[in-house]
Amino acid sequence: MNVLFEKLLKILSLEKEQGFQDHAVIGGLRRFLVVWRDTSPADAQTPEDRALVEQVYGMLADYHELSPQDRAQVVSAVIAKLGKPGPVEAPPPPPAREPRPAPAPRAREPESRWEADLPIEKVKGISEIYGKRMAKLGVRTAKDLLYLFPRRYDDFSALKRINELQYGEEVTIVGTIWETRSRPTKQGRGMIQTMISDGTGMIQATWFNQPFLEKQLRPGREIVLSGKVEEFLGRLTFSGPEWEPLQKTQLHTARLVPVYPLTSGIKQRWLRRTMRTVIDEWVRRLADPLPSALRLNSNLLDLKTSIEQIHFPDSKEMLERARQRLCFEEFLLIQLGVLKQRQAWQKRPGQPLPVDTALVQAMTAALPFALTGAQQRALQDILADLQENHPMSRLLQGDVGSGKTVVTVIAMLIAVANGMQAAIMAPTEILAEQHFRSVSRILQQMSARAADPEQAALLQNLTQRTHLRLLTGSTPRQEKETIYREIESGEANLVIGTHALIQEGVRFPRLAVAVIDEQHRFGVEQRAALSPQEYNPHVLVMSATPIPRTLALTIYGDLDISVIDELPPNRQTIQTRWLFPAERERAYAFVKSQIEQGRQAFIICPLVEESDKTEAKAATSEYERLQNDIFPRLKLGLLHGRMKGSEKEKAMAAFERGDYHILVSTAVVEVGIDVPNATVMLVEGANRFGLAQLHQFRGRVGRGEHQSYCILLSDTPTVAGEQRLKIIESTHDGFALAEEDLKMRGPGEFFGTRQSGLPDLRVAKLSDTKILESARQVAAELFEQDPALQQPEHELLRAELERFWQPAEEPN
Ligand code: ADP
Ligand code: MG
Repeated sequence: MNVLFEKLLKILSLEKEQGFQDHAVIGGLRRFLVVWRDTSPADAQTPEDRALVEQVYGMLADYHELSPQDRAQVVSAVIAKLGKPGPVEAPPPPPAREPRPAPAPRAREPESRWEADLPIEKVKGISEIYGKRMAKLGVRTAKDLLYLFPRRYDDFSALKRINELQYGEEVTIVGTIWETRSRPTKQGRGMIQTMISDGTGMIQATWFNQPFLEKQLRPGREIVLSGKVEEFLGRLTFSGPEWEPLQKTQLHTARLVPVYPLTSGIKQRWLRRTMRTVIDEWVRRLADPLPSALRLNSNLLDLKTSIEQIHFPDSKEMLERARQRLCFEEFLLIQLGVLKQRQAWQKRPGQPLPVDTALVQAMTAALPFALTGAQQRALQDILADLQENHPMSRLLQGDVGSGKTVVTVIAMLIAVANGMQAAIMAPTEILAEQHFRSVSRILQQMSARAADPEQAALLQNLTQRTHLRLLTGSTPRQEKETIYREIESGEANLVIGTHALIQEGVRFPRLAVAVIDEQHRFGVEQRAALSPQEYNPHVLVMSATPIPRTLALTIYGDLDISVIDELPPNRQTIQTRWLFPAERERAYAFVKSQIEQGRQAFIICPLVEESDKTEAKAATSEYERLQNDIFPRLKLGLLHGRMKGSEKEKAMAAFERGDYHILVSTAVVEVGIDVPNATVMLVEGANRFGLAQLHQFRGRVGRGEHQSYCILLSDTPTVAGEQRLKIIESTHDGFALAEEDLKMRGPGEFFGTRQSGLPDLRVAKLSDTKILESARQVAAELFEQDPALQQPEHELLRAELERFWQPAEEPN
């Protein structure tokens, strides 16, 4: 038997000996498996062995999540599969004391698809230095490189004669170099001037600061040149066009030319060249995770062609087909993942909570307002779920201020009334504190204002039994320990907190309702961390991001959905205006006047595409400009994504306390903090944000009694931008805006910079609703037929699914 499998069998038998505690390997079996599977190409040389490795890996992948009984079953299944019942059933072999991970992969003659995981600096033509630079683009392996898709394409496919050229077009010409001269400019920059002729005419091209070109652009040489036709002193010219010698395969000219994201030390032309070689050498080693029958049915290109075409498309049609295929795969993987999560969650029993209708009536009657129809519907959905035997997993969506909190508090109190525990987990400390205050207020209202004595008695009984606690990272140590004890004894039965709730090994013995507030898609693992031993709690995910239904179904496919699509009456509308760049001074004057009246303001910096780092830099200089030049007498705070979590919290808390008049921020501020005194939201570069995101920003103001305003400044008033900003001026319905947004933008943009918790979507656009629908359907069928993807033709798909859903390396 292959040594690889022997090693695994040893560990499994040790596991068995130890009662399936997942202690046989330090760090758990999963840790070992990952290494084992990755290193195995060296040891598992036959395709059969290879397949077996994958199968076994798949069987054991969620070992750490299983109960000991389930683990026992899986282990015997694996042993049976490896066809070696002997040594395991018989006296176990001497326990491996410290199983060593298999040796590191050796660089070998590439021969199988697995080698596409070869580290990038081992790829021919890529040095270690370049390897390091590539890492900044997230490229670590040959495969990563193949999946580094162009940001856009220059369409240089239009070949023209020189005498047909027109000002402003992007074209390609083929011609002979007539003469090349080098001359200094007045600014002392080197300039290369070349005259090119194609028999129909002559045109000049100019390059700056590239002295080496003089030698390359020798007279007589035939070249292909692509670029935009410009005009200089009344004559048509090219300035800094792309060029390459005629004859070799055209990479940079005369085609749809890929334009890649870059980083320092990586140049466009180098990357294109490297990409071409890597594609030529590696793409055929990519195995297609989509079974061919499925591809045929859905009319999809195969993987090799798609990858090749997305980099170097033969035509626009092929590019679109390649994109469709890759997009389909992403949607399919998302769907399969969420279906699996849903199944995993609902497999374990829930904790049915009987609902006392009289109590619910008493609670709602005690509120100082009547629930809206939408709130009532959502509440009914939730109450129905709570009484079920299987655990609820529901998404509660509603615009900012639509009244989600009240609804969830009622649900949580049902748990308390049943002698169980409930918890809210918020993404930040400030939000946790804000929840704590709202929940306290609601509890107070309930104990203070019952409609009649009978209800008063019910509520009194309930509020007396409710022990509300707040637990965050900055809760003082002693208090924390007290709270831990109270949680573990079950005394603390309404707990609000941050990730601290699950990170520090707090155990809720009787948690029946868990509310997750916003943003984090709460993976099965985290949910499991909250779950008591015997059952899963009912989980409610609250989100203020209005997501169109198709999209919600896709990314939250594992959740049922309730929507609060109606705001409580008498809400102030936030006055929204978009202004031209020239009106900036007016906007600043308005901010000042509001601050003079005692209010506060947010100023959002434009979205910077390149990276977090450049965005942080841009935000910092904008902050300095505003502080020094525009508002020198006011106190400004700064918030951006590169700040540490605690620094962000500090800045937001200071703003909330009123220490700053203005908070200058990048998009990170959209995750909802309530600062009732803030009345102005000024968004710079508003045209760069999606409507849904602008709406989120707008939701940061109008949280108090004061009339609030949203001012949108666009930096370049393009027609499309103008239209969008007009829509948001008049529309205050987040869902309508989200739908509108979706028509124009992709999911990455849709979610803005925020982590949706979804795996990276590289190609899929949510406006691809047709592809989305068909992927959803195919996923459902697949899941029905072969939920664990165990059939041989689904093996690669399963492997891809695991890879796809692997948690990102650096969260945030
Ligand atoms: P969300 O969490 O959806 O942003 P909240 O639950 O925080 O909204 O509610 C926002 C504000 O509206 C709170 O002050 C709350 O007391 C109030 N509110 C909630 N429901 C209603 C209602 N039906 N009528 C009037 N006010 C309401
Ligand atoms: Mg709220």
